[in-house]
Amino acid sequence: MTKRIFKNTMLIVVLVVILCGVFILGVVYDYYNKELSEGMMSEAKYISKGVEAEGIDYLENLGKTDARVTWVDVDGTVLFDNQADITTMDNHKDREEIKEALTSSAGSSTRYSNTISAKTIYHAVRLSDGTVIRLAHIQASVLRIVLGVLHPMVVIIVFALVLSAFLTARLTRQIIEPLESIDLEHPEEAKVYDEMSPFIRKIIKQNEQIKEAMEEQKSQRKEFELITENMQEGFIVVDKEARILSYNSSVLKLFDMDMDVSGKNVLTLNRTEEFSQGIIDALKGSHNEQILQVGDRFYSIYINPVITEEKVAGAIIIVTDVTETEEREKLRREFTANVSHELKTPLTSISGTAEIIKNGIVATEDIPKFAGNIYSEAQRLVSLVEDIIKLSQLDEEKNIPSKEPVDLYHMSLEVAEQLRKVAVKKNVTIEVEGKSTVVDGVRPVITEMIYNLCDNAVKYNKETGSVIIKVGENQNGKIVSVKDNGIGIPKDQQDRIFERFYRVDKSHSKEIGGTGLGLSIVKHGAKLHNATIDMDSELGKGTQISVKFPC
Ligand code: ADP
Repeated sequence: MTKRIFKNTMLIVVLVVILCGVFILGVVYDYYNKELSEGMMSEAKYISKGVEAEGIDYLENLGKTDARVTWVDVDGTVLFDNQADITTMDNHKDREEIKEALTSSAGSSTRYSNTISAKTIYHAVRLSDGTVIRLAHIQASVLRIVLGVLHPMVVIIVFALVLSAFLTARLTRQIIEPLESIDLEHPEEAKVYDEMSPFIRKIIKQNEQIKEAMEEQKSQRKEFELITENMQEGFIVVDKEARILSYNSSVLKLFDMDMDVSGKNVLTLNRTEEFSQGIIDALKGSHNEQILQVGDRFYSIYINPVITEEKVAGAIIIVTDVTETEEREKLRREFTANVSHELKTPLTSISGTAEIIKNGIVATEDIPKFAGNIYSEAQRLVSLVEDIIKLSQLDEEKNIPSKEPVDLYHMSLEVAEQLRKVAVKKNVTIEVEGKSTVVDGVRPVITEMIYNLCDNAVKYNKETGSVIIKVGENQNGKIVSVKDNGIGIPKDQQDRIFERFYRVDKSHSKEIGGTGLGLSIVKHGAKLHNATIDMDSELGKGTQISVKFPC
């Protein structure tokens, strides 16, 4: 900038100096010629006076003069010339200045002289006798004048240029220095000349606008980060080269990564063909949706193209962990299949037995036995359907009566009474220990839970076994536990017995009875009450299952 101002100013200065030089030269040239003409005129007059007084002698004694002096007769004959031989000179009557002098006492002209081979100024004066004295002087050429004034002019020009350079440099500094001293962050502190005040005001205003815009952008980014960071869903933005521009921490958690993936290709997160194809499709402009399995987890992936000005600029990827939904879906499918199977078995048995009776194959005395068979299978069906209904109610938390104070001890006594008959049949004792312990709960659900636990404790017990129901509370909660010294549950199956229709011994399930849903109902009942279940079981020694209700 400084250099440019200096260069341009100096260019202007040089141009002005050149123009001024030419102009001055023109003026000097003009002035010189005018002075010459006037000098010649007065010299001509002066010589004419001399010739009038002394005739040709005056001219001959004139000596050396700057101008050429010619005396011309009335008829144009050259009478005298101090620089040329008059015998060789032709008649001068036609010369412009002579003609003019003859008619109006004085004349002048400028033309090229053949006699002295140069551009010449002529001045003629008519004498009283009618003859004419003419003075001729070579007109100085511009070049001669230039050469004449060259030395002082060069000195003046050099001086002018040096002075201009010095002043320009100073001026440039004066212009630039305040500009350079402006701190764009704090323009109000700058010491500038008045003309710059509007400029400074504009910078201050623009600074404020930039600051405001930046603040807004910052708060928008913060808001965006806050939203995306608090999202459980993974959020990724990629450019059109599939490089990650932005992502939230959920993405790293979901894809089990712990490094910064900004700027990396999105396939760093997952290299499966489906994911990669999804990204390719989105970057071609189409929406993509897929369920991706990573390890034992399932992710729902939505990939949407980002389109700006009708071109795909990148893609947004939303990742949701749908493992639970997928598992629930799987369980639902399994459940439906199991239910169908469980219902079909007694129904087939009922239908088969009924058909035998219908066909009259059964002897009359055997009919009650067959009818009893139908009845027990129908009973099995009823309790299965009842359990399914209970479970689905608990599952969906629909049609569940409201909570009320329930005494676990009292309820355990009731359940024990209900089961006593069956227990006695199996030679199993049932005892209830503890004291009155009240929880806020859904009465029928808690009854069902205790009943199922006790029913199992009796069912899976040995001859002369025992069942002890303990009710009590500690600082952690109110507990009802059912302990038996029955067959116990193998360690590797203990986790599974709460699954629907899961039975340890499938082959004897029919004789033992039960739907395979008892413990599932206990599990869902516990969930409804925010209760936890603990199990301690040893194969051949017995089982204890406790339900702990929060205080
Ligand atoms: P079921 O109707 O078959 O009893 P449950 O869901 O109540 O179904 O129990 C699932 C399985 O867990 C049973 O089939 C049985 O194998 C096992 N089980 C439950 N309780 C006990 C227990 N107290 N002792 C031994 N095994 C048990």
